[in-house]
Amino acid sequence: MAKKDYYEILGVGRDADEREIKKAYKRLAMKFHPDKNQDDKANAEEKFKEIKEAYEVLTDAQKRASYDQYGHAAFEQGAGGGGGGGFGGFGGADFGDIFNEFFGGGGRGQQQTASRGNDLQVTITLTLDEAAKGISKEIKVPTLVECDVCHGVGTEKPSDVSTCPTCHGAGVVQMRQGFFAVQQECPTCHGRGKVVKNPCKKCHGDGRVEKTKTLSVSIPAGVDTGNRIRLSGEGEAGQNGAPAGDLYVQVQVKQHAIFERDGNNLHCEVPINIVMASLGGEVQVPTLDGKVSLKIPAETQTGKVLRLREKGIRSLRGSAIGDLYCHIILETPVNLTARQKELLTELGETLNSDKGSKHNPKAKSFFDKVKKFF
Ligand SMILES: [Zn+2]
Ligand SMILES: [Zn+2]
Repeated sequence: MAKKDYYEILGVGRDADEREIKKAYKRLAMKFHPDKNQDDKANAEEKFKEIKEAYEVLTDAQKRASYDQYGHAAFEQGAGGGGGGGFGGFGGADFGDIFNEFFGGGGRGQQQTASRGNDLQVTITLTLDEAAKGISKEIKVPTLVECDVCHGVGTEKPSDVSTCPTCHGAGVVQMRQGFFAVQQECPTCHGRGKVVKNPCKKCHGDGRVEKTKTLSVSIPAGVDTGNRIRLSGEGEAGQNGAPAGDLYVQVQVKQHAIFERDGNNLHCEVPINIVMASLGGEVQVPTLDGKVSLKIPAETQTGKVLRLREKGIRSLRGSAIGDLYCHIILETPVNLTARQKELLTELGETLNSDKGSKHNPKAKSFFDKVKKFF
């Protein structure tokens, strides 16, 4: 919910002069004056307030300059260059109550949240095998760690540290958006609540420095794309001794050449020839634990699915193991020799003989239906 641009509210260009702004304000204020909009008073009041606020900022040279440079952030609590709540006089007290309701009476209680280190997220890409069996992997994470020169204080002399004048140590400032109050990090101290006079040369007063950390992450067996592993306290260092954020490792599992994963089950295609399909037999099929033998029953049709129990993936939670589904594909022989053609021709003749229909029940039923249609 972004606050509306003051220039947009008044419908003037960014280079509008004072006369133009006044004219626009007068026109809009007349239009939305609550007394003139008795049937939709609440909405008109809201609009009127918006217009007044925009007008007050854009006709004050100093405020306008700050707004042009920093946007709405320029008018967060106390940052308004001297005047403070420059939009007073229009229900300011009511807004104060709303602040208290929403945030339990000011920003001070929020300080810890503001200075706790940020959470970080990295993506780790695993093969299906690694995801199924679990693995320990090293990851490199660019992060912020406590500065070893000032030990997180931001300066080498503790007497150089003073309370931030903008947020009075809260680390956050509040801004209004209609009836809602929104808290933001203090632009002066960046959430620290303190300012330092002679900042540490290494961390420039932030108390933290950039560093690439190498971490060993233990990936549990059974993870899948979309799973997140949380490493508590491995995010960015906190400020002023506040706790560090967390590191989230987002799991991405690569496509496998043979297997398709569906939860804990695996699927694969197994091509067999017409002889195997007709007479039955055994084929070797791959699993994540090596090859196993799969029995093909006689008269297997294409598309048949044979299940190998517990040859899938062990569940991340619990001990259940998924199954491997083998989808049988009948492969028509290609590159036939003369002899093979001869044998197939002979076979074909017997299949199409008088009693042939009993060998091809599907084909017979199909052609019977065709006959009925035409
Ligand atoms: Zn430092
Ligand atoms: Zn501050």
